[in-house]
Amino acid sequence: MKQLEALAREAQSFSESAPAMAEQTIHWHGRNAKPQSAALTDGEAEVARVMQICNACRYCEGFCAVFPAMTRRLEFGKADINYLANLCHNCGACLHACQYAPPHEFAVNVPQAMARVRVQTYTDYAWPAALGTLYKRNGLALSLATAAGLALFLVLAVLMAGGLFHAPMAGNFYAVFPHNTLALMFGAVFGFAVLALGVGVTRFWRNVSPGAASGAAVAEAAHDALRLRYLDGGHGKGCNNADDAFTLWRRRFHHFTFYGFMLCFAATSVATLYHYLLGQQAPYPFLSAPVLLGTAGGIGLLIGPAGLLWLNLRRHPLQGDAAQKPMDRGFIVLLFLTSATGLALLAGRDGGAMALLLAIHLGVVMALFLTLPYGKFAHGIYRSAALLKWSIEKRQPNKLQLGSD
Ligand code: SF4
Ligand code: SF4
Repeated sequence: MKQLEALAREAQSFSESAPAMAEQTIHWHGRNAKPQSAALTDGEAEVARVMQICNACRYCEGFCAVFPAMTRRLEFGKADINYLANLCHNCGACLHACQYAPPHEFAVNVPQAMARVRVQTYTDYAWPAALGTLYKRNGLALSLATAAGLALFLVLAVLMAGGLFHAPMAGNFYAVFPHNTLALMFGAVFGFAVLALGVGVTRFWRNVSPGAASGAAVAEAAHDALRLRYLDGGHGKGCNNADDAFTLWRRRFHHFTFYGFMLCFAATSVATLYHYLLGQQAPYPFLSAPVLLGTAGGIGLLIGPAGLLWLNLRRHPLQGDAAQKPMDRGFIVLLFLTSATGLALLAGRDGGAMALLLAIHLGVVMALFLTLPYGKFAHGIYRSAALLKWSIEKRQPNKLQLGSD
């Protein structure tokens, strides 16, 4: 133990001189590349400091992919730090296991240091760059205000077109808002979200220099991302949330949320095929594929976000970055409202308030799409890219030959 502490102390004193050593110029790779800031930010320097200490200690080596990836490095430059920060799942295990965590003088807090750099990477790689600062402003109040503003706008549009309440229309949404208008509005916003996130993650990918991906690496990364492998804490008992007790609920609620979202996406895709390929227009029967998929997805998107919000409210304050909680909660609440208003619309589609329910639901969905590229949704995209890099990297020879991987 004393020997370990001496090693960690040596690493701590080494890391105090690290910012100067770590100053380096790194460049965007590929076409349209832009140079990044030469020096580490304060947040990145903190990750470099704790990684130097962890590299001497290595107690947490089996917890997640971050630690074996760390052992392949002796120094931590900007690209390495951005990669490791996005590889971290913020499970909290290494905070509760750490003998050097606060109040120890080394104050090692890996999840918090990683969380601060993660949001900075979204901002740095964002496209268009000017919108990158939205990651730090995209909070609960903004999400709710956007949803309320858009819903109000659509409610007023319905009111002016003939009234909020009407004779039952048998769920004929297109009698209220024409199909082509909806397809154009939502297609444009969703297309922009995909483009913005795609450009951002491509910049990240080029900068972390991942190398060529084999089929096995892609399959492993997809498997790890879809199973949320590292939210099991590396031992299968789960991660930490409120304290040092393990819980699998974060993993379960993430699964409800992710697969709920994917089922809703599948419902929309199948409905689009029905419309354009089969010439069948909505409303679809309750037992049709789009409605069944949407209902199952909607239920998942109620349970998952509600559970994640409950865990978020009980989260140990040292595990993450308190400044990001509004962004997390804004996204969670918008997902929940999207599902709640969608299921309410399904239940009331044959009634006289269908137009009102439809306007509210569309306003919430539009708010979700508008905030998607500059909010918490980005973490799934960047984390999947980091997992793929790790799957590629672990198949390459370890030049240091110091780690156990
Ligand atoms: S988090 Fe703490 S216990 Fe874990 S490797 Fe780092 S210094 Fe060691
Ligand atoms: S918080 Fe969890 S995922 Fe992140 S480095 Fe620590 S053990 Fe790994």
